[in-house]
Amino acid sequence: KVRVRFAPSPTGPLHIGGVRTALFNYLFAKKHHGTFILRIEDTDQNRYVEGAEQYIIDALNWCGIPFDEGPSTALRTGSNKNEFGPYRQSERKHLYKQYADELIALGNAYYAFDTAEDLDFYRTDHEAKGKTFIYNWHNRLKLSNSLSLSAEEVQAKLDAGHEYVIRFKSPQDETLLLTDIIRGDIKIDTNILDDKVLFKSDGMPTYHLANIVDDHLMEISHVIRGEEWLPSLALHYQLYDAFGWEKPEFAHLPLILKPTGKGKLSKRDGDKLGFPVFPLQWIDPVTDEVSRGYKEDGYFTDAMINFLAFLGWNPGTEQEIFSLEELIHTFELERVNKSGARFDPDKIKWFNHHYMQEQNDDELAETFKNKHSELAEIDVNYISLVVGLIKERATFISDFWELSSFFFETPKTYDEKSFAKIMTNDARELMSELKQIINAVFDFTAENVQTEVKTWIGKKEVGFGKVMQPLRLALVGEMKGPDVFDIIYMIGKAETIKRIENVVS
Ligand code: GLU
Repeated sequence: KVRVRFAPSPTGPLHIGGVRTALFNYLFAKKHHGTFILRIEDTDQNRYVEGAEQYIIDALNWCGIPFDEGPSTALRTGSNKNEFGPYRQSERKHLYKQYADELIALGNAYYAFDTAEDLDFYRTDHEAKGKTFIYNWHNRLKLSNSLSLSAEEVQAKLDAGHEYVIRFKSPQDETLLLTDIIRGDIKIDTNILDDKVLFKSDGMPTYHLANIVDDHLMEISHVIRGEEWLPSLALHYQLYDAFGWEKPEFAHLPLILKPTGKGKLSKRDGDKLGFPVFPLQWIDPVTDEVSRGYKEDGYFTDAMINFLAFLGWNPGTEQEIFSLEELIHTFELERVNKSGARFDPDKIKWFNHHYMQEQNDDELAETFKNKHSELAEIDVNYISLVVGLIKERATFISDFWELSSFFFETPKTYDEKSFAKIMTNDARELMSELKQIINAVFDFTAENVQTEVKTWIGKKEVGFGKVMQPLRLALVGEMKGPDVFDIIYMIGKAETIKRIENVVS
């Protein structure tokens, strides 16, 4: 049974890399009819940020990749889905100590009493000699811990309420063989590993212990996470072995690189480079600083998901457009790359333009209308027709006004350069005559106007452009926009005549 989890720490807004991790977990779960779990890893109280958990949940929901189990799902669905909960590590605090104790009893972990100052001293001392200090078999017995002290000394320190941590006892001279679905086999010499802290005297486990205990208790079958956790894999393997637990399978997703391809994309890059790196807007609860979000910037969920799927994965075919359903069907961890994926902000715009064409015009029109007070009095059916004519040129709904204002308002100004070039005396004369021709069209459809105008142009023996250019300028104010006859039909006879008169007089 496939059970996967997305396990963010609520230390701030979820960035694009986190959403990609969540998406790949979701796709894998759905493909295998499994369960997608959200677990909040909030054991580090110092880094807890107000609102971050709600942000994570809102972001997953906006992306259309909701979790099956997670904080409050039992309440939400009313089902008995809470058998693996609670899903916030701070609410599971009571669970972890017994596992730390178990490792001590098994001889795989030990108490360490070294103060921060002691450890700093060792570090600087080693550095001065050109060496690196590693807290492991090499130095362990010189330090203050339950392997170097007698049982009585240890008990005395514990009784006296001495600060301590519990460390994993990493073995000497062993070779670990790790397996990753994306990276294959990895060999690790245990001599380079340090004795990682598993538990702190504040009663809280560290990430490593809590993560392994929870993955085990929640019966996680596959751990799919970012590459930055690969260095922890050796310890995690050893923890599973120490407890005698069956391991899940692991897949570490490639880094997401800056648009230049050099270096990891950071949370700061978005503001620096002018694109969002967060799914939703985030307002920092302390500084009130606003970071842009894809949603507020006008991206469609489908575009975002399609874009993210290609950050590190490809279907092995030429197909680029995938709905969420198709992604679920096609996605395979085996087709995820090892090497970093370059983040290309233009590519997501390309996807957005594509998905714009798939949107329902009536819905687009509603949103457009609500954003512009100029449209308040205008019939939404008319706006919908306009949207249908201009959306092939739009990437965002926020492009609409610029592309379509002339459907709603008579041009007040004209593009100077074009006007000087196009609106010659000859052109004005043609426009005066054209006005009569258009005025005479009885059944005012785009086709009928077009036929009449073309027949007239044919008779006059002037170039088509000689008429169409000043006409477009009169109607639009610039040399842009969709088909002139569509514009004429949409704005109607009276308005067309009026706009022609405006340039003739
Ligand atoms: N809490 C870790 C994070 O913030 C989870 C890493 C993992 O998935 O094991 O990414």
